Amino acid sequence: MSGPQQITVLGATGSIGLSTLDVIARHPERYQVFALSGFTRLSELLALCIRHVPQFAVVPEVAAARGLQDDLRAAGLPTRVLVGEEGLCQVASAPEVDAVMAAIVGAAGLRPTLAAVQAGKKILLANKEALVMSGALFMQAVHKSGSVLLPIDSEHNAIFQCMPQDFSRGLGAVGVRRILLTASGGPFRQTPMSELAHVSPDQACAHPNWSMGRKISVDSASMMNKGLELIEACWLFDAKPSQVEVVIHPQSVIHSLVDYVDGSVLAQLGNPDMRTPIANALAWPERIDSGVAPLDLFAVARLDFEAPDEQRFPCLRLARQAAEAGNSAPAMLNAANEVAVAAFLDGRVGYLEIASIIEDVLNLEPVVALEDLDAVFTADAKARILAEQWLNRHGR
Ligand code: NAD
Ligand code: MG
Repeated sequence: MSGPQQITVLGATGSIGLSTLDVIARHPERYQVFALSGFTRLSELLALCIRHVPQFAVVPEVAAARGLQDDLRAAGLPTRVLVGEEGLCQVASAPEVDAVMAAIVGAAGLRPTLAAVQAGKKILLANKEALVMSGALFMQAVHKSGSVLLPIDSEHNAIFQCMPQDFSRGLGAVGVRRILLTASGGPFRQTPMSELAHVSPDQACAHPNWSMGRKISVDSASMMNKGLELIEACWLFDAKPSQVEVVIHPQSVIHSLVDYVDGSVLAQLGNPDMRTPIANALAWPERIDSGVAPLDLFAVARLDFEAPDEQRFPCLRLARQAAEAGNSAPAMLNAANEVAVAAFLDGRVGYLEIASIIEDVLNLEPVVALEDLDAVFTADAKARILAEQWLNRHGR
């Protein structure tokens, strides 16, 4: 009865979604698309449906669903269109589905990703914000359902590949001293500090090595992305924040490393192309072709490393503080960051104000325990309100 695996791709129209579909299309005997979701670029979603013929497509609202359903019918496709978060949760947990690519950006991905976890699906986790917001509850749900959780973030996928298979016994038990999380340093690693107040969204999104969605591109420029990844690594590998060290490595060829007590340091290398971690997670524990060119070490020639400068990257310090505080602090950090980045992308605030907004929000609200998902969304909503109030207070 083992036909191709049925895959749901949440956030199919995004950068990770498209890379996932590229890998899937290389292996039609192994993978079939069960469902695709989109949020804004719905003509692209239609084109993806025509190409991959999923059973379901999910869009944010009813009018868009009607339009897409008519277009799909006109194209002679059997695809049924579902709506909103309920539709996302349905295609994430449907009995036919083997694996779910969680590639919606931001807090919007949490409920559908958790629905897939609770249904015991194999989870290919790109949506790091979901884990940052609700790490304890998320990991409890993974353990309860027996879901297999495979990291797509290139650093975490690299760490996963460098860990022994039984790492869930605990880092100490498997002889791991620390995790070395690499970061490119983004487009502003060497920009004079005096110019940072005036950098534009397009400059922030011009990442030197990776092509990504705009929110994560800004996070990479501010290094909030690395801060979110630090928190992500703590949950995925049951590490303390002090066991995760951030290393700036501008070439983005080493995707992260694991340092063992015997002095061995294992690294995973590759060209900066997300199809490698996607193929790794899709096929795990096997290996499949991803379409990524072989790494040419002679062309790379050298690998450089630097310590991060927290003056230049205050978001990294704020994220480490939130990781140490735990409880509601990471959810608040994430929500304040989402509002601040959206305001920066809209031209309402300057680049340096992103960190100011987040720091003010975190200072205003006490850290509380998060007993359930409602508490997570309450903390998220509070931080969004406080960040909006910051914008109003400053006349933005
Ligand atoms: P993107 O902006 O290119 O795509 C985001 C996707 O989410 C799109 O399909 C969009 O339609 C959908 N979406 C946006 N808002 C939504 C909402 N409110 N409800 C439902 N769907 C919504 O982003 P991306 O670069 O593909 O990143 C996706 C996730 O993967 C992020 O969490 C990011 O941190 C993570 N990630 C991305 C990369 C990368 O190289 N792009 C690397 C590591 C991790
Ligand atoms: Mg990453």
